[in-house]
Amino acid sequence: MDFHASNYSRGRGGRPLSRLKALMKAEGTNVCWICGQPIDLGLPPNHVMAWTLDHYVPLSLGGDPLDPANAREAHRRCNSARGNGPPPNHVRTTREW
Ligand SMILES: [Zn+2]
Repeated sequence: MDFHASNYSRGRGGRPLSRLKALMKAEGTNVCWICGQPIDLGLPPNHVMAWTLDHYVPLSLGGDPLDPANAREAHRRCNSARGNGPPPNHVRTTREW
């Protein structure tokens, strides 16, 4: 699965995943959908609170990696704490978008 994903992002005509990330950063709320706290875009990418692209339906469960409707902004820490589990049902958000 992993090498399939890296082939995907190496396709010709640009990098769709990178473009999706740039779009999310530029046009998203920059708020973590898991913990609800703002994400500082100025942090280095390896920082635990850095911005990451999370997928609402994990790729392991058939989620589309390039569908903006499946993409969520999350802290690196929150994203990795969540892992590849199903969408957390304890998060009850009133501001779906
Ligand atoms: Zn968070």
